[in-house]
Amino acid sequence: MAAPRLEIDLNKIHHNTQTLVQRLASEGISVTGVTKASLGSAPIAHTLLQAGVCGLGDSRIENIESMRRANITAHMSLIRAPMLSQAKRVVQAADLSFNSELDIIKQLSYYAHELKRVHSIVLMLELGDLREGIMPEELLETVESILVLPNIELKGIGTNLACRCGVSPDTRNMAQLSELASQIETKFKLNLAIISGGNSANLPWILNQANHTRVNNLRLGESILLGREPLQRHPIEGLYTDAITLIAEVIESKIKPSVATGVIAQSAFGAVPAQIDQGPKAQSILAIGIQDIDPAGLTATQNQQILAASSDHLIIHTQQCLTIGSEMKFQLNYSALLRAMTSPFVNKTYFPITN
Ligand SMILES: *Cc1c(COP(=O)(O)O)cnc(C)c1O
Repeated sequence: MAAPRLEIDLNKIHHNTQTLVQRLASEGISVTGVTKASLGSAPIAHTLLQAGVCGLGDSRIENIESMRRANITAHMSLIRAPMLSQAKRVVQAADLSFNSELDIIKQLSYYAHELKRVHSIVLMLELGDLREGIMPEELLETVESILVLPNIELKGIGTNLACRCGVSPDTRNMAQLSELASQIETKFKLNLAIISGGNSANLPWILNQANHTRVNNLRLGESILLGREPLQRHPIEGLYTDAITLIAEVIESKIKPSVATGVIAQSAFGAVPAQIDQGPKAQSILAIGIQDIDPAGLTATQNQQILAASSDHLIIHTQQCLTIGSEMKFQLNYSALLRAMTSPFVNKTYFPITN
């Protein structure tokens, strides 16, 4: 089989998705399946939909367009604020977008009117993590301006925590979001269908206690694909953490000294960490590099030590020299997965759903 490659087990992704969908349904929460870490992969999108997500979410309009070209007709949300320059494409391809700037919502309204469509929006609130969202003090005034815009439907409000500053979702900030939703409903006499509480980092909050808030939607990517929650990166009970595996091929394997010889300056990608002399060791080179993966996000499945990486080489210490052309397996974290999924040099092999 072609190398390097990601082996993607759709059975395990289906299991992870269905497990989360069912557990959250009992708390009145729907799941938007987030495809951004998979470059809008159509096989993964189909799997999430089969496993019961209420719709798909992606941060790039290009990914949403490519899933539309793959004839996926499901409800799709753009979960990053649209670029002003892409507003027309957003109205054309996405059913809903997450927004925090009135100028952009006005542009969406303009194109929705021109295209004779209604575009739905979720208004994002800043609740402490300091990434996207309007300040809560500006909420009512912003809603008032949105409600007069033609061809725009305010479907709900949302927030996103734990992405920039690692602020943990908890009962306090989720109750705050719920309270803000109620304020809008009372003041403008309307009903908000979506209270979207966050991403996979919300799972430790909701899997350990009953939902006493109005949060009724989460947007999940990492937990579905990797089976972990992103706050501590602990495995989530009942989920597979090995649905996706990376395989790379050995192109050199020799006994070499464990310290470099000569005057040491910078390497291709900056400073070289201090080296410890362990005598001669088996050193292998795999044909994959930092344009394909984040080397810090790889774990070799047989405990081999990853030493360094350059654009196209991954260098590891192994017990003994490896056969040239043989393959090695790695587990990936989110950062390594994101890069591997988006690298055109990494093949994607899907194990289809068997049930
Ligand atoms: C990436 C992202 C998500 C999904 O996050 P995961 O940690 O992968 O579950 C949800 N919402 C927004 C706004 C995002 O950018």
